Amino acid sequence: MGDEVHESSDAWRFGLKVIGYMREVVDEYAKETGSSFGLVQSPAESCATRLAQIDLNRYGSRAIFQGDPSKIENDMRSIYYTNSSHVNVAAGISLGERILVESSFHPLFSGGTIMHVFLGEAYPNAEALWKLTKHIATKTLTGYFAYTKDMTICKACKRTHFGLLDKCSNCGAEHGLLEHWSRVTGYYQEISGWNAGKKKELANRHRYNVVERIKKEITVNV
Ligand SMILES: [Zn+2]
Repeated sequence: MGDEVHESSDAWRFGLKVIGYMREVVDEYAKETGSSFGLVQSPAESCATRLAQIDLNRYGSRAIFQGDPSKIENDMRSIYYTNSSHVNVAAGISLGERILVESSFHPLFSGGTIMHVFLGEAYPNAEALWKLTKHIATKTLTGYFAYTKDMTICKACKRTHFGLLDKCSNCGAEHGLLEHWSRVTGYYQEISGWNAGKKKELANRHRYNVVERIKKEITVNV
């Protein structure tokens, strides 16, 4: 389409059509075989990078992916495909728009969906978070969602800080004494074990400030 799903209604509609078609095929399999098949959003962390890598090698400049092909780590380029039917993590659209587009896909799956809300604040305002949670749960098609805050764990003073810090704000420890943790897909993991593409995705993530969001109020009607 030349656009990503959040960039034009044609691309969005086409995305819905693709996932809708996949659901029809899965349902047919289930009917034909009498077995239970489901269409789910699979956490494809390794595939997201590996398939982008294969396509780049095979198709060169015709391959379209996220990330930076010039950055190589452990023989792997820092490139990746956007996971599942998610909106590109780097898209700087409003949180309301992101929720609207991503949640519109959820009813087409048999289950196993997730929408990520990456939080930019270390300590989001509780009331703002509650309002946002209520909005997502009652006013959108979201099947399942998760808030994610990045964390830094200091092995020297045993403190946990929110955000990805280069220096412990408590004891000043740096580098090897700090562990960075964030969510891969469904669970938290230490970032050092992530592949190059996934690390790039972490760097690209657009994070949302919940207080600002609530101040602007939720203007997108679902
Ligand atoms: Zn410390």
